[in-house]
Amino acid sequence: MPLPRFCPQCGSASLAPCVPPGDSHSRLVCGACQYVHYVNPKIITGCIIEREGQYLLCQRAIPPRPGTWTLPAGFMESGETTEQAALREVWEETGVRAEILSPYSIFSVPRISEVYVIFRAIALEITGQFGPETSACRFFAPEHIPWESIYYPAIRQILERYIAERQAGVYGLYVGNDDTGKVHFIR
Ligand SMILES: [Zn+2]
Repeated sequence: MPLPRFCPQCGSASLAPCVPPGDSHSRLVCGACQYVHYVNPKIITGCIIEREGQYLLCQRAIPPRPGTWTLPAGFMESGETTEQAALREVWEETGVRAEILSPYSIFSVPRISEVYVIFRAIALEITGQFGPETSACRFFAPEHIPWESIYYPAIRQILERYIAERQAGVYGLYVGNDDTGKVHFIR
């Protein structure tokens, strides 16, 4: 995430890193007006939507990584709940009106300061109309999932686990991180 060069509050160019009094982290602080620039993780929400043993994936039409497949997910907006954000992203990226069944996975990516909140959901209506961020979307049987085109390892692992759990008929709840490039789920 690029840091601002000018103070968002007073426009001065005197932003410099320092640990504000009483704080534990270094922040950009404005030497002119004492504005403190906080950078906190971004939250990405999305859904695993399964229908008759098939899983809804969408193909990205825009950078980063156009052409790759992923679960419908995206950045939460201010003023939304995680559930609203997840259902909105599903709607925008796949044209599916969905209903959330339960939370499924929360994983952190500290390296890029992101947190993913993934829900289990079902499709209520499939319109076939979706927004410009998506070039295609469809339900895949497990043996047809384009695993090599799913860029993000954590998404692959979540899907693999879900497919195994559906066969067993029991769903867990997982928390993990991929700061080492590997996802460690804790039941
Ligand atoms: Zn300032």
